[in-house]
Amino acid sequence: MFDFHLEEPYSFLCAFIPALFNLILLFYILTFLPKNRVTNVFALLTLGCVLWQLNDAVLRIVNTKEAADFWDSIFCVAWIFVTPLCFHFAILYTQRLKWQYSRLYISLLYIPSFIFFTLYQMHAYEHVFENLGFWGWGNFHNKNIIDIIQIYWISMWAIATLVLMFVRTFKIGDKLLRKQSFLITAGLAIPTSVGVITQVIFPTLFHRSPVPLTSSFMTFFSIATVVALRKYKLFTVSDLINNRTLIEALPIIVISVSTEKRITYINKFGKTTLGLTKKDITTLNIDDLFLHSSKEAERDFNGAWERTIKKNSVETLESTLFASTGKIDIILSSTPIINNNMVQGVLFTARDITELKRSHELIKHKEAMLEEAQQISHVGSWEWNVSTNAILWSDELYRIYGYLPRETAPYVIYAACITVEEQELNKIVIDKACIDHKPFGFYHRIIKKDGTEAIVHIQGKVTTDEYNKPVYMNGTTQDITESIRKTDMLKKQNEELQKINTELDKFVYSVSHDLRAPLTSMLGVIGICEEDTNEITTKEHLKLLKESIFKLDHFILEILDYSKNSRVEIKKEQIDFRELLDEIIGNLQQMNNEYKVDIRACVKSSTDFFSDRNRLSIVLNNLISNAIRYSSPHTSDRFAQVEVNITHDGARISVKDNGIGIEKHLHDKIFGMFYRVSADSKGSGLGLYIANEAVKKLNGTIAVESEIEKGSVFTIYLPNN
Ligand code: ADP
Repeated sequence: MFDFHLEEPYSFLCAFIPALFNLILLFYILTFLPKNRVTNVFALLTLGCVLWQLNDAVLRIVNTKEAADFWDSIFCVAWIFVTPLCFHFAILYTQRLKWQYSRLYISLLYIPSFIFFTLYQMHAYEHVFENLGFWGWGNFHNKNIIDIIQIYWISMWAIATLVLMFVRTFKIGDKLLRKQSFLITAGLAIPTSVGVITQVIFPTLFHRSPVPLTSSFMTFFSIATVVALRKYKLFTVSDLINNRTLIEALPIIVISVSTEKRITYINKFGKTTLGLTKKDITTLNIDDLFLHSSKEAERDFNGAWERTIKKNSVETLESTLFASTGKIDIILSSTPIINNNMVQGVLFTARDITELKRSHELIKHKEAMLEEAQQISHVGSWEWNVSTNAILWSDELYRIYGYLPRETAPYVIYAACITVEEQELNKIVIDKACIDHKPFGFYHRIIKKDGTEAIVHIQGKVTTDEYNKPVYMNGTTQDITESIRKTDMLKKQNEELQKINTELDKFVYSVSHDLRAPLTSMLGVIGICEEDTNEITTKEHLKLLKESIFKLDHFILEILDYSKNSRVEIKKEQIDFRELLDEIIGNLQQMNNEYKVDIRACVKSSTDFFSDRNRLSIVLNNLISNAIRYSSPHTSDRFAQVEVNITHDGARISVKDNGIGIEKHLHDKIFGMFYRVSADSKGSGLGLYIANEAVKKLNGTIAVESEIEKGSVFTIYLPNN
């Protein structure tokens, strides 16, 4: 048995070198390639090749028939199993047959090989070995019917493998995978055809001696595999991702459950999300994971379970799970796990939709808010898909036209509520927007469903595609009937008010004017009485009467000033400040006799100044008379200083006094109508109000700085007209 010779070293090396080559390949596969079903079967296939090649090598160096039979019985496992292994590899690699998932089919593939192997090992029939000279001992499989069936069976799987690989090569889309598949197919085709011809057809059909060349030609397959591994990355493209890796990596919860509802598996994502440990899983029941929000939800879940188990149906439903972070909403799908035609359990997949639901609720809430806002403001929104001609209206828009939301198609309402003429006009605006792509807006009248009339304001914009073609139009429609009604009413009221105001002004003017004449007569009569009497008390009474008449006259003059300011148009004329101030100071002289205030005026002018003389006179008159009137009785050198500074832009006028002053918190109030700092104030409280109004009319500003018992400065700025 162990007596070897090396008469034909080349013949021995022809089988031994390929065996060594495949052994290295096997080592490479086991060490460097990812472990999965395809690579495992491929490793077994390579081992089969190694053993077959060793078988051939040994048969070329043994001396006797018995020794050949002995070694062949040891290595026969290789050539009996190698082609079913080949086919097994092909179905896993090509994934073309569903067999890969059926243990039954895979068993059927190998069972005959086991029978042949057993019969061969038992020597159920004679093993015929003859010396073939250069090729050593040859096994003649053509002498016994079992042996013949056996080699045809082996050949059949080799050919079936080739067919499967060819089909895959031509059908596959991916370039890289096609090249890879073609290479392996070609590598397989050579030893297969050589083996079938030299070791099956020759001996069985032509009664010629078999030539044991198959194992040597397997080198082509090995080389093709090495190239496919190195160049086309065989097994690393898709096979790396096996089912388990895929399921573990998926961001969805995957749970497998036995028919008794016992949890048998939860993927990594599921474990993390639900906060479960390996130990929890073994003790948990599927019902423990769920948090049914209602009896109905529980019934739905149980119904889905029953249907999946009993009717093999795939069910989908919404549910809630206990998670490590609290409860989560999920969309659950249950699929029966069927093996050997029996439901072995249920596969649950659950996607966390908590966030989705939350955003959905937020969207719903925002939609409700928008709907409410539209209802309150009577604004409806619309969109028109120009390409599909689909029109979408908001609920409020239907209501604006007097219809119930979605009562009928928008274009039907549009046609019913708008006159043909208005439709034509609207079309012109929209057509224009389609050309210039600018936002548009127009008003039109509608006749609502109940026959009432309304005015709407439509605004919209156009969206275009990459070729500048309008594809979409959207905008708003606002019911402005009420606001138009209100605007009309306001306009009318305003006109009426203006009329009343003018009439009132005229009335005030004429009344004030007419009142002055009797006052002058009264003063005249008082003058006569004063001359006619020598009685001291009567003279005193007449003096008081005169003062009151002066006060009343002053008040009437102020009212006239106010009336003039609001009624009379602004007149632009050149102002000679020196002359104006002289006139005002002159007029106030009589009043100043009582107060003895030193009135000084200083005008600095670099250019001419234009403004309304009358209004300017009213303002200055008021300020200077106040400076006199509110001079301090405790100061001996009472003064009122008027400074005018004219530039190209305007005039800066200040009226300064060392009078009684005004408290800081009252500075804003003194410009109010009828405002007086104290009840003992000598005036009516109208002076500064009129001054302020007149300055405003002249587009100027007025400001005050004042301190109690120190004095006040009123500063005016007026633009040069
Ligand atoms: P009146 O006709 O009473 O003077 P004004 O509108 O001119 O009314 O002034 C309002 C109030 O401001 C006055 O009652 C007075 O107390 C105060 N006031 C105005 N000018 C001066 C001033 N130069 N010095 C002190 N107080 C003043």
